[in-house]
Amino acid sequence: EAHLSAIERLDGSLNSFITTTPESALKAADAADATLAKGEGGELCGLPLGIKDLFCTNGTRTTAASNILRDFVPPYESTVTSNLLRDGAVFLGKLNLDEFAMGSGNLNSAFGPAINPWKRNGSDENLVPGGSSGGSAAAVAAGLVLGATGTDTGGSIRQPAAYTGIAGIKPTYGRCSRFGTIAFASSLDQAGPMAKNLQDCAILLRSMAGFDQRDSTSVDTPVPNYEAALNRGVKGLRVGIPKEYHADGLPAEIEALWQQGINWLREAGAEIKEVSLPHTKYGLPTYYIAALAEASSNLARYDGLRFGSRVKADSLDAMYEASRAAGFGEEVKRRILLGTHVLSSGYYDAYYLRAQKVRTLIQQDFLKAYEDVDVLLTPTAPSSAFALNEKPSDPVQMYLNDVFTVPASMAGVPALSVPAGLDGQGLPLGLQLIGKFFDEETLIAAGHVLE
Ligand code: GLN
Repeated sequence: EAHLSAIERLDGSLNSFITTTPESALKAADAADATLAKGEGGELCGLPLGIKDLFCTNGTRTTAASNILRDFVPPYESTVTSNLLRDGAVFLGKLNLDEFAMGSGNLNSAFGPAINPWKRNGSDENLVPGGSSGGSAAAVAAGLVLGATGTDTGGSIRQPAAYTGIAGIKPTYGRCSRFGTIAFASSLDQAGPMAKNLQDCAILLRSMAGFDQRDSTSVDTPVPNYEAALNRGVKGLRVGIPKEYHADGLPAEIEALWQQGINWLREAGAEIKEVSLPHTKYGLPTYYIAALAEASSNLARYDGLRFGSRVKADSLDAMYEASRAAGFGEEVKRRILLGTHVLSSGYYDAYYLRAQKVRTLIQQDFLKAYEDVDVLLTPTAPSSAFALNEKPSDPVQMYLNDVFTVPASMAGVPALSVPAGLDGQGLPLGLQLIGKFFDEETLIAAGHVLE
C-alpha cells in the first residue's frame, strides 16, 4: 500500500509506469501475507517490483512503449516474470522504456518520456533517467518499487542505472531466458535486475536466471547463490583497466571517478593492470549494424495482421504500410530502414557480414584480456544524466552514449553498473565492471567494494 500510494503521489511527474496494476497487486500482497504468516513463502514473497513493459505478462497489457502494441494483452507470461512470481514477487505494474528498447534516454516512448528523480544542484530542470530501461531506473531510484526488471541489448540496464544512482546487472548472454521478452536484437538482448544496491540485484538475479527449454540460447548451467558472493572481497583479484576506454573528450570528473574506483579496489587488495582491447573503437559501428539488422527482422511481424494494431486500407499492402506507418515511432522506423539496408543484397557482405566478423574480434579481445585479469573496470557512461531538451538532434550523437557499454554486449560477457559518486552538479555517476562468461559472482563481489 505504501508503494502504491508513492506511485499515486509521484508518478504523475516521473511517468515511470505505463500501466499500474494496483488491484492485482493488493490481492497478491494479501496472499503473500497469508503465506508468510504460515512461515512459508519464496525468497521474494511479498516484495513489490516493477516490470519493464517489454516482458509479456499474462492478462496485463504489454506495449514495448509502442503505439503498435498499445492494446496488446499477452495470453502468456515471460519466463523471467514467471520465475519472479514463482518466488512470491508482487508486480505493481509495467514500466516505461524507449520504444522496443531502442534508445538511451527514454525519449523514444509512445507514452512520453520517463523523468529522472534526480535534479542538478539548484535547478529543477527535468533530466532523462537514461534508457532504454528508463522507467525501471526512475521507479527504483524514487522508491516506487524495491526492484525492477530491465533488459540490456547495448547498455539499457547499465546506463540508466548509472544515471539514476542505482545498481544494475546485465548477466552473461544466455543466463536469463528471452522467452516472452519482446525482441529487439535477439543475439544481444539479455534481461537483468535493477535495484538500489547489488545485494538486492543479486537476490533478484537468482530468481530471474536459469535454463529454459523455450529459449534455445538459454544456457543449462547451475544458477549460483549470487548473494553469497557479495562479501567475498577482492584480495588477489586481478582488475584490468582497458586503455582504449580513455576516450578523447572524456570529462575530467569521469576520469577522476574511474581513478577513485581503481584506488578503492587496490586498497581492498586487488591487483590493477592495464590491458588492451584493441577493437574497442569498432564496438559502436558494428553494434549499430548488427542490432539494427536483427531489429528489422524481428519487427517484421508487426504488420497489423499477425501482430500489432491495424489501420484498415483497401489492399493488403496498403494495410501493412498504413499500420506500420501509424504504429512505429521515428527512431524505430530509422532502425528498420537501416537494418533492412545492411541486410539487402549487395550490401550484406559489406556491412552485416563484416560487422559479424568484427564482432568476433571484439569478443576475442575480451577472451585475450581474461588470460591476465579477472574483471575489467571502466566508467559506465561518458556523462551524467542530460536534460530532456538537451537531446542531440543528430541520432549518431545519441548512439555515442553507449560507447562503454556496447563492447561487453557484443562479446556476450556479463557486466554491471554500481553507483560510485556524484559529479559537480550533484548527479550520480556509475562505474562498470565487466566479467568472464557466467562469472557474475566475481562482478558482484568487486562491485560491492565500489558501492
Ligand atoms: N542505447 C542502445 C540502443 O539504442 C542500447 C539499447 C538497449 O540496450 N536496449 O540501441
